[in-house]
Amino acid sequence: MKETAQILKEKGLKVTPQRIAVYNMLLNTTEHPNAETIYKALEPTNPTMSLATVYKTLDYFKQLGLVQELNVGEGSSRYDAVVKCHPHTVCVQCGKVQDLYLDELTEIHKKVEDELDFQVNCEQLILYGVCGNCRRKNKEG
Ligand SMILES: [Zn+2]
Ligand SMILES: [Zn+2]
Repeated sequence: MKETAQILKEKGLKVTPQRIAVYNMLLNTTEHPNAETIYKALEPTNPTMSLATVYKTLDYFKQLGLVQELNVGEGSSRYDAVVKCHPHTVCVQCGKVQDLYLDELTEIHKKVEDELDFQVNCEQLILYGVCGNCRRKNKEG
């Protein structure tokens, strides 16, 4: 895998330790954090970084196609370093966002193409529900 600094440089971004930290965090998580979560996670190691910097950095990343912004119906966006379109599940109780990879979607794309003469490039599919953890907690009352 390429060095994060190298990736940022190739995108024409000035490489700063804070930008590297934000991108690395997103590369190493499947949690789909929002800006605030990223800020809190990086605060101990980057005490001079502000929340505004995190927002600005995420905005640059989004414009350069390094991250995708997900709106799952909350007040703030979630961020994903996997920029290829993929479906997500969202727990309505704890807000957990997970990646979902469905082979069946290829069939659905094919069906749409046949029936509507429409080529699907990307889908924004979000399945809302309750995750296993929350269901267990609910049962325990
Ligand atoms: Zn949950
Ligand atoms: Zn994702």
